[in-house]
Amino acid sequence: MQRQACRCTFAFFVVKIFIPMNTIAATILDGNKIATQIKAEVAEEVQKLSAAGIRPGLAVILAGHNPASEIYVRNKVKSCQQLGMLSENLTPPDSVTTAELLQMVNELNSRDEIDGILVQLPLPPQVDSKKVLLAVSPEKDVDGFHPVNVGNLSTQRPGLVPCTPAGVIEILRRSNIPIEGRNAVVIGRSDIVGKPVAMLLLNNNATVTVCHSKTKNIAQIAQQADILVAAIGKAGFVTEDFIKPGAAVIDVGINKVTDRSEFERFFSGDPAREKSFAEKGSTLVGDVDPHVAAVAGAITPVPGGVGPLTIAMLMANTVKACRMRRGPERQARS
Ligand code: NAP
Repeated sequence: MQRQACRCTFAFFVVKIFIPMNTIAATILDGNKIATQIKAEVAEEVQKLSAAGIRPGLAVILAGHNPASEIYVRNKVKSCQQLGMLSENLTPPDSVTTAELLQMVNELNSRDEIDGILVQLPLPPQVDSKKVLLAVSPEKDVDGFHPVNVGNLSTQRPGLVPCTPAGVIEILRRSNIPIEGRNAVVIGRSDIVGKPVAMLLLNNNATVTVCHSKTKNIAQIAQQADILVAAIGKAGFVTEDFIKPGAAVIDVGINKVTDRSEFERFFSGDPAREKSFAEKGSTLVGDVDPHVAAVAGAITPVPGGVGPLTIAMLMANTVKACRMRRGPERQARS
């Protein structure tokens, strides 16, 4: 009964997937479709701003050589260009100092055409990352990590919200999954994901419990969740016994599986995964065991769930930062 009620409310962006050895499959929340819709909305906003002579601009600082970071930044720059935004990529060498990065950030802070500054993490080990992040003007802090924006979020003032947590809320909202009055459990309390997700759920009137590495009886607490968010960084940590039947499960984790026996634990009998694992020697799994889809009412896949939302929300944040600092409404007020 509960499962059916959940199914009919998840009206948009849903597909069904094959779950081996189980007859009932959760609704799969398609992050790629939702991200595409958000990007289309951002592109419309960019056009409106450009009609007023304003072009939102994002600057990314990518220090040193980190292959994963290089791929992320390339995707961010590509998205900016697709949406008609200005993008600038600064690539200081591995040997860059804290002072040099601070100077770079300060220059970007003072340039009017730059609305968003993103410092790609991790920075080289000799750099004081916290000092560099703190130097980013809160008005241009499109990652939403600056203490001013953290404070704005917790006091429900206008500001910039971290991209992945904002994406989690967009998935719920655009899939018509109610948040208000629901029990939400967030596993993970990082400053980047867990805490801001918990704050956003609270701001949307959920009753929120946050679990972490010292929490006892996590499975029992998770069983109370109508909405369960996992952001831990541990492959398949959340298993079927954590799940209240019909719950919405949002899997933020991204973990690479290379071990055959671990692969089989998660994906045995899944022909598509078998094929890609055989070709690449690895596959991605979230913090949620995929078999949870047999119990949950709705679930985000990995890949293709929360991940695509992160870049979409970065684009949305850049346009928001632009509007708040130099948009037509702002100019009319001053
Ligand atoms: P993080 O900074 O390492 O934080 C992990 C959190 O999980 C910590 O709060 C930790 O608790 C908790 N934790 C670790 N082991 C636990 C356990 N056994 N039981 C309960 N809690 C446990 O990680 P993060 O940056 O939040 O990222 C989490 C995951 O999300 C990673 O897989 C990451 O790759 C992924 N991620 C994805 C996106 C995306 O775009 N989809 C974006 C960001 C991150 P303590 O605080 O007690 O140590």
